[in-house]
Amino acid sequence: MPDQERMARLPKVDQVLARPEVAGLMPELPRSLVVAGVREVLDGLRNRLLAGEDLPPAELEPANVAAAAAAAARRRARPSLRPVVNATGVVVHTNLGRSLLAERALERLIALNRTYTNLEYDLDAGRRGSRYVHATALLRELTGAEAALVVNNNAAAVYLALQTLAAGREVIVSRGQLVEIGGSFRIPDVMARSGAILREVGATNKTHLRDYEQAIGPDTALLLKVHTSNYAVVGFHQEVPLAELRALADRHGLPLMEDLGSGTLVDFTPYGLPREPTVLEALHDGADLVTFSGDKLLGGPQAGIILGRAELVERLRTNPLNRALRIDKLTLAALEATLELYRDPAAALEAIPTLRMITTPYQELRRRAAALARRLRRLKLARLRVELLDGESRVGGGALPLAAPRTRLLSLAVEGMSPTRLERALRANDPPIICRLEDGRLLLDVRTLLPPDGAVIARALARLAA
Ligand SMILES: *Cc1c(COP(=O)(O)O)cnc(C)c1O
Repeated sequence: MPDQERMARLPKVDQVLARPEVAGLMPELPRSLVVAGVREVLDGLRNRLLAGEDLPPAELEPANVAAAAAAAARRRARPSLRPVVNATGVVVHTNLGRSLLAERALERLIALNRTYTNLEYDLDAGRRGSRYVHATALLRELTGAEAALVVNNNAAAVYLALQTLAAGREVIVSRGQLVEIGGSFRIPDVMARSGAILREVGATNKTHLRDYEQAIGPDTALLLKVHTSNYAVVGFHQEVPLAELRALADRHGLPLMEDLGSGTLVDFTPYGLPREPTVLEALHDGADLVTFSGDKLLGGPQAGIILGRAELVERLRTNPLNRALRIDKLTLAALEATLELYRDPAAALEAIPTLRMITTPYQELRRRAAALARRLRRLKLARLRVELLDGESRVGGGALPLAAPRTRLLSLAVEGMSPTRLERALRANDPPIICRLEDGRLLLDVRTLLPPDGAVIARALARLAA
């Protein structure tokens, strides 16, 4: 068939726009978006015709073109950043947004961004105040630190500290602690950008106090310890404890900083998890500055928290660079509300989703998994197979790398669909359901599921296995 004739079979833009499938979208979606959806579908069909493809006549039916155009318009209208169901069992999943906020933090976030606030206004004096007073009093109260500062994230905190205290001078750090965090954040690279000169000491597996001692010279500005939060060295391994570095720093009149990475205010060992140094311990053991993330084990919004000696924190605060790294008011509101919860540690474990998920007992997970399995079996889908099995979750966020809390998993199979295809189909669901593929099986870990997720999963499977 000549090209002309093929093209004549394509419906016209106006013809598709007049169809009820498309016209019906109009009050809900802007016309420009609907037109773009129609053009997208028609262009696709035209290109296939030009490529000589023999399209089945049904594909060119105005009703079918209109349905495809409506779907395309809806896809275009969808926000880029969307909710997903986290069925991976990785609690602080960096790709899925790390920590979920506590209800209290969410309420505060909304309330304080609907009205004007005293963000930088001193209500007593009636003049300009500082945004840095807001979460900092509470951080001092909770940790006993002399001073506190909050910046955009922990990478910014490390960068600001190095730039302020050690630009053009040397920072001594163990070779065993030159960490890459992911997203290509590498301690040595950040140091280089800050202008500080990295002085590596020791070996990959062992660093001794004397290694630090021998490296100290007139150019030394700072001793740095980096908590290797996302990996563990086992076997013939030694790092110098912070308390010993403290004594060395004192002998030479040097500041000592620890980048804790995750930074937790809670000791997780009573919940059967490996020991992770807490923020309080780092301060107690003598760090002059401690930095950590707001959205890892703390369970708050993205932020970089800096605690320590008042004189050092003040230097960081007044560094002009701080303006470029500064915390925004949305974060401050959510952070302060999250921190308030830590005044009652038992309540914090319940109210802060990250802490609640990490510490959910196995028996409870078992009960939830059984309930979800029952719900799916009640759908009576002949093609769906649901099995329950034990497994391990992950804390994630580069924290507690050896922790593998016991969990309960659902293994799902749909007849006629490979696990890989099922994984892709669930990921394409609206909202997307992100699962694990392990040993050729599709697994859902109930640890990270939220109460409404059961219904979402059931609906998706009812559609896929119908
Ligand atoms: C995660 C991490 C960082 C970076 O923190 P962000 O808040 O993601 O910027 C820095 N150092 C260590 C040791 C970390 O684990």
